[in-house]
Amino acid sequence: MLFDLPDFDNHELVLFGRDAASGLSAIIAVHSTALGAACGGCRMWPYANDAEALTDVLRLSRGMSYKNAMAGLPLGGGKSVIIGDSRKDKSDALFHAFGRVIESLGGRYIAAEDVGISVADVMTMGKTTRHVAGLANGHAASGDPSPFTAYGVYLGIKAAVQHKLGTDSLKGVRIAVQGLGNVGSNLLRRLADDGAVLTVADIHADAVQRAVDQYGATAVAADRIHAADVDVYTPCALGAVLNNVSLPEVKAKIVAGGANNQLATASIGEDVRAAGILYAPDYVINGGGIINVSAEITNTYDRDSVLRQVERIPVTLAEIFRRADREARPTSEIADQMAREILSAAKTEAKVAAA
Ligand code: NAD
Repeated sequence: MLFDLPDFDNHELVLFGRDAASGLSAIIAVHSTALGAACGGCRMWPYANDAEALTDVLRLSRGMSYKNAMAGLPLGGGKSVIIGDSRKDKSDALFHAFGRVIESLGGRYIAAEDVGISVADVMTMGKTTRHVAGLANGHAASGDPSPFTAYGVYLGIKAAVQHKLGTDSLKGVRIAVQGLGNVGSNLLRRLADDGAVLTVADIHADAVQRAVDQYGATAVAADRIHAADVDVYTPCALGAVLNNVSLPEVKAKIVAGGANNQLATASIGEDVRAAGILYAPDYVINGGGIINVSAEITNTYDRDSVLRQVERIPVTLAEIFRRADREARPTSEIADQMAREILSAAKTEAKVAAA
């Protein structure tokens, strides 16, 4: 039963969208609109089955509620998935059909880019719905959020390195980047500029070759990158990379990266702490992209002020790290608690305003 799934977690709405003509099978999940219209990216992925897609969208959607809350944005949390292979199954008809599904929610959910979905795809959805962001042009258009996500992750890695290794330079720091897509490739450039020693993996050989050629990175197998002998493990692909199987093999003292839902389960957070690993909660460190998108939605886009806002990410992380040390609790648990407090305060405020 959907409502009993552990990941359901009181979602306000889950919508299944199908369009036989274009081959669209999609799910939109709206976790919370306590802080505003739910906003989160659309992911296109060839899920093995519907249950996997549902679990993913529910976990990602709640993550967006927490992410938007922690970034101080006037946005609720939601997410969508299109079941399909982004390298083979894209078509204008598919994105037009998906736009119509978004439009049917009347603005309760606003879609943007995520894994497998480009700015061009969001523009195509925008032909049939007004409720998309991360656009290439138009008033206050914010474009691709990935460079802003990567900037926040870069600053977050520096904050984690400062906290755990006691240095504010990345020169000579060994960093393993998993996933060299939009976020990973933008991040690599910054890490290389700072003199970090890079190890990389991707399931696509062309992306790996580019990193080796451009930055002298060392390539390792995609299924072994978590075990690389490095200081920082930086997941920038898919989620659940910290699990019972991978964690005992992680040699890094820091896990800090852009991927959403890095912890396979909430309880892994304690295992990560017990292993002496400093974990930068994913939805805090990767908030740069949604900060950028939010400025478009609120019609206030100004690149410099977006950058200033992204630069608060390491400040929030440092607070979480200190509190986690003080209270001997996992950083993931501290961040969840802080996010839930923000959401429940917003709900209380809304109730008071309505009374
Ligand atoms: P992307 O699709 O551009 O890149 C993902 C990359 O990961 C691809 O190159 C893919 O081949 C690779 N990959 C997939 N499975 C892999 C595996 N098992 N091992 C190694 N590599 C693998 O996506 P993106 O936009 O760069 O997003 C990356 C992660 O960051 C996702 O978890 C996404 O949800 C998260 N994120 C992205 C943004 C953003 O602004 N794009 C914002 C917040 C969070």
